[in-house]
Amino acid sequence: MSTTLVYLDARSLSAEGPGKAERELLTIAAGRSAGSVVVAVSAPVEDDVAASLGRFGATTVLVPASDVSAQLAAGPAAFAAAAAAESGADLVLLTNAGDSKEVAARLGIKLGAGVVTDVVAVDGGDFTKSVLAGAYTTRVRAKTAVAIATVKANSVEPAAPGDGTAEVRRIEAPEAGPTATVERTEAKPASGRPELADARVVVSGGRGVEGDFGPVEQLADALGAAVGASRAATDAGWIEHSYQVGQTGKTVSPQLYIAVGISGAVQHKAGMQTAQTIVAVNSDPDAPIFEIADLGIVGDLTEILPQAAEEIKRRKA
Ligand SMILES: Cc1cc2nc3c(=O)[nH]c(=O)nc-3n(C[C@H](O)[C@H](O)[C@H](O)COP(=O)(O)OP(=O)(O)OC[C@H]3O[C@@H](n4cnc5c(N)ncnc54)[C@H](O)[C@@H]3O)c2cc1C
Repeated sequence: MSTTLVYLDARSLSAEGPGKAERELLTIAAGRSAGSVVVAVSAPVEDDVAASLGRFGATTVLVPASDVSAQLAAGPAAFAAAAAAESGADLVLLTNAGDSKEVAARLGIKLGAGVVTDVVAVDGGDFTKSVLAGAYTTRVRAKTAVAIATVKANSVEPAAPGDGTAEVRRIEAPEAGPTATVERTEAKPASGRPELADARVVVSGGRGVEGDFGPVEQLADALGAAVGASRAATDAGWIEHSYQVGQTGKTVSPQLYIAVGISGAVQHKAGMQTAQTIVAVNSDPDAPIFEIADLGIVGDLTEILPQAAEEIKRRKA
């Protein structure tokens, strides 16, 4: 019987359970492994918190004796390797966040395992991912005994929690070797909007907004969406770089992506092409973004967005 190891950063756990992207991993693992889902949590947590991961499909939870989440990739990778050996897993799943991909890369070296990033679907040992700046969707398989996959948020609907409980085991976190340790972190001021990387709906603005993200933010708030941006907008200083979607920004895979005043350069598409539904608002009917849009609206965003936001609010009221 196959065993799937899900590596979770302990910071993603709250009283309500793991975050949404992490619950998606557990859902994929439970669907694949028929009863054998092992979770490795990156820091010591109370037994009842660890056991409660059983509600989300975990059968066993491995907890380190010391906190590895404050160490940059080397510590988490050493612990994840120990957890993989302990569990006998043939598949290790992580989120697609930047730090997870770094852990996955180091883990791949430690286990001699193939690593597949940017995965949007797992089917047995096959992974679906988009490549070459989103131009192709491919099915890939690691030829190694253990495979490692980092899975994009919004790839599956997380299963509703059940009433299971997981066995909790504590294992030594092995010596990681030289590594940097995070001394202090500061929480970003809360915007009240969902996190861009795992939002179900994203409204992104580009050069076409001409410095005014107001209409984009109003539409995002009407939809309960995250705000994103093209590089032209972040380079112009209209919005922080952390909002950038694309090859050199964040990769998003929401259920709905609304591109506003964005031409659809290949480097932008690389970060959003796997969205389930793409809507584009652009004044140029020949803009390349329309080639990948499910719904295209040709017109001036300053007229269309306020109307759309008003209508959505009216229907929600
Ligand atoms: C190595 C490299 C990495 C890169 N990485 C990224 C990346 O991560 N993300 C990214 O986005 N780009 C990236 N780029 C830049 C990319 O090539 C494009 O330059 C950029 O995406 C263009 O942004 P844009 O679509 O907002 O601007 P433009 O291409 O200038 O398009 C603006 C669009 O707005 C429309 N418009 C104008 N006024 C209105 C209006 N009133 N109403 C409606 N529509 C209007 C126009 O018709 C036009 O289509 C990268 C480039 C390189 C070389």
